[in-house]
Amino acid sequence: MRVNITLACTECGERNYISKKNRRNNPERLEMMKYCSRERKQTLHRETK
Ligand SMILES: [Zn+2]
Repeated sequence: MRVNITLACTECGERNYISKKNRRNNPERLEMMKYCSRERKQTLHRETK
């Protein structure tokens, strides 16, 4: 059971990445360091609803 998720920058709110995850393996919100094209640096990105 895989669901589509969106990863948004926690600093500017830009939605930079679309991904998929398995809700059983990762029931909580995903967080990862990703490159934000708006700020041109690595920021923490978090799964949105
Ligand atoms: Zn950003």
